Amino acid sequence: MTPTNLEFQTAPFDIKKIRNDFPILVRTVNGKSLIYLDNGATAQKPQAVIDAISNYYSHENANIHRGVHTLSREMTDAYEAARTVIQKHINAAFSHEIIFTKGTTESINLVAFCFAKKNIFKGDEIIISQMEHHSNILPWQQICEEKGAVLKVIQINEKGELLLEEYKNLFSSKTKIVAITHISNTLGTINPIKEMIALAHEKNIPVLVDGAQAVPHSKIDVQDLDADFYCFSAHKVFGPTGVGVLYGKEKLLNALPPYQTGGGTIKTVTFEKTIYEELPLKFEAGTPNIAGGIGFAAALNYIQNIGLEKIFLQEHTLLNYATEKLSTIKDLRIIGTAKEKASVLSFFIEGTHPFDVGTILDQLGIAVRTGHHCTQPLMQFYGIPGTIRASFAFYNTKEEIDELANGIERTIKMLK
Ligand code: PMP
Repeated sequence: MTPTNLEFQTAPFDIKKIRNDFPILVRTVNGKSLIYLDNGATAQKPQAVIDAISNYYSHENANIHRGVHTLSREMTDAYEAARTVIQKHINAAFSHEIIFTKGTTESINLVAFCFAKKNIFKGDEIIISQMEHHSNILPWQQICEEKGAVLKVIQINEKGELLLEEYKNLFSSKTKIVAITHISNTLGTINPIKEMIALAHEKNIPVLVDGAQAVPHSKIDVQDLDADFYCFSAHKVFGPTGVGVLYGKEKLLNALPPYQTGGGTIKTVTFEKTIYEELPLKFEAGTPNIAGGIGFAAALNYIQNIGLEKIFLQEHTLLNYATEKLSTIKDLRIIGTAKEKASVLSFFIEGTHPFDVGTILDQLGIAVRTGHHCTQPLMQFYGIPGTIRASFAFYNTKEEIDELANGIERTIKMLK
């Protein structure tokens, strides 16, 4: 099968044209056409994003915010315009509520460490869940160790759904913050975060949402969700690596102390005292990833042009097709069968190791992720060493899923 002779299924949009936007999709791997099903780890980049970054370095490069020369002023405007694109994309009230970071991991660390400094003390409690990515466990665990606080964990059922009744019972007078994932990177579960945020707010507890897997798949409205903090990475939304966002409500961000300090964060410095800048600069120390911010905005413009509803529909068609197809394979166990799911399909094949399956699939040109997906506590819950994870983007096709199913059947024959 080659991408040029794929028989594309009827899709709610022109899939052939869309695939042409992604130059990497025509390459071969191990002599086979690439079938890229590792979008949960990082998504591929459309030409529009590659061009925006290349154009920046070829024709526009300058440092921002402090220059009077033309290039610097132009790039300051472009970078701030990128911030506004992101603000509008998630419907934040103000562009200064968008803080550029290196990615989701840094966004969560920023909140954990700055929030804890002023608000978390011995005996206080932080609520997270069993399905968190390590990036939304370790910063809180670190705070607990330093401050003598306690981590409370919302458990899940076998399908991979959070136990909401239990969540309600985890709150106490000591609870200081809730940090939960919007969509599980391993299970695909879409958590009812609007409801969960409302429950926390009844008790005046702020909620951080790890949106790394949600922004690529759905329309996010942080005001409708009433999220206090919302974190995501550009590279999973078809943008570049090394850049991401912390959204925070203005009032809450203003109340946090600076995270990293240094150039770009200040109004005045004397050896006696420093007066810090207003939002967002207070949290953006040093020269930022300017090309990254510009590339991120290009990625969001690209998916907006396709239409988020169309993307959602296409990915759900793929998820349903793949679920049906893989369910018929003997000894294959799907891990994560929540009612509300994004286009992530994790599975385990009895009697094989995920690593071996992934290696053989790679020989067939099929890129899937294997292992614990930075969710070891989840693997402990299911009693498995890891899973094989196929995660779909809107440029994937049913034909690619057929190839995946054939590849799995072949792999099982080889390994058993
Ligand atoms: N949270 C979730 C749910 C993720 O899937 C990931 C990336 N796998 C992260 C956090 C961390 O994102 P990043 O590596 O871009 O900081």
